[in-house]
Amino acid sequence: MSEFKIRFRGIRGSYPVANEKFLKYGGNTACVEINIDGRIIILDSGTGLISLGDELMQNYINSGTTLSNRTPVNVSILLSHIHQDHISGIPFFAPLHVASTRVNLFGNPTNNSTLEDEISESLFNKTFPLNSSDISADVVCYDINETNIIIIKKDNTAILTNICELSNIKHNDEDIIISCYKSYAHPKHGVMIYRIEYKGKSLVYATDKESYIGGDVKLAKFARNCNCLIHDSQYTTEDYQSIYSPKQGFGHSTFEMARDVKKQTNAEKLVFYHYDPSYDDDKLDQIAEDIAEENLIFAKEGLEIIL
Ligand SMILES: [Zn+2]
Ligand SMILES: [Zn+2]
Repeated sequence: MSEFKIRFRGIRGSYPVANEKFLKYGGNTACVEINIDGRIIILDSGTGLISLGDELMQNYINSGTTLSNRTPVNVSILLSHIHQDHISGIPFFAPLHVASTRVNLFGNPTNNSTLEDEISESLFNKTFPLNSSDISADVVCYDINETNIIIIKKDNTAILTNICELSNIKHNDEDIIISCYKSYAHPKHGVMIYRIEYKGKSLVYATDKESYIGGDVKLAKFARNCNCLIHDSQYTTEDYQSIYSPKQGFGHSTFEMARDVKKQTNAEKLVFYHYDPSYDDDKLDQIAEDIAEENLIFAKEGLEIIL
């Protein structure tokens, strides 16, 4: 039987927190691991990526006794955007420093740049002991836009195509199909929303996106009838509307906005995600109690959902 497993590695927005009051939900920034019949797709690469890297590294070491007979790490990473809380785990992703590793890195570069240049400059050349050219792994960066479709084949090879050419590509039901669209409801350069489909199951990842009261028609269309919607829920409505420090225009949603999108899309499950780093376990427990409803799930580090 096929498996579509989601595991939350980092659920925090903005910056990581390390404090005893944050142990229940976790303090690492955005990273979700998807394991589809052994193929690993990673949504964002905040500090949550580091524990996944350590686990993959251990599996790699245990898979054989020599460099030549071990099974290399081979993953695809989909970046929503390149704000720090979505990329800062990359330099510390242990398999990156092993020559046999293959990483397919997908993202939408900002104006007049490439994803490779942006990652190299912001994470390595100026801010890390290693230059990007010193990285051992085979990292292939793909600049994507909303016309693109990504296909992950059974042998883990990634094919980048677009909506018009999709019908010309031979594919079968073992393929994982990933579509995307760009939302501009996040400063400064917008954010990519992803939909991952496999054998009739689907997951939509919509983080760092400000929604509207009542929902979001474009997202609702894109996410229609998905099995699981992971949606930005950075603020309570009270904090969003605070007269002292209003959050409108910050590019994040409230728990209620996320719930409205779920209703509008007819999503089976909604996972609240990307909490404000000031929201400790007590505050999140209180929000969860107030909003309790079937199929509303609060992301926590280590939480697994099987579709
Ligand atoms: Zn973020
Ligand atoms: Zn952001």
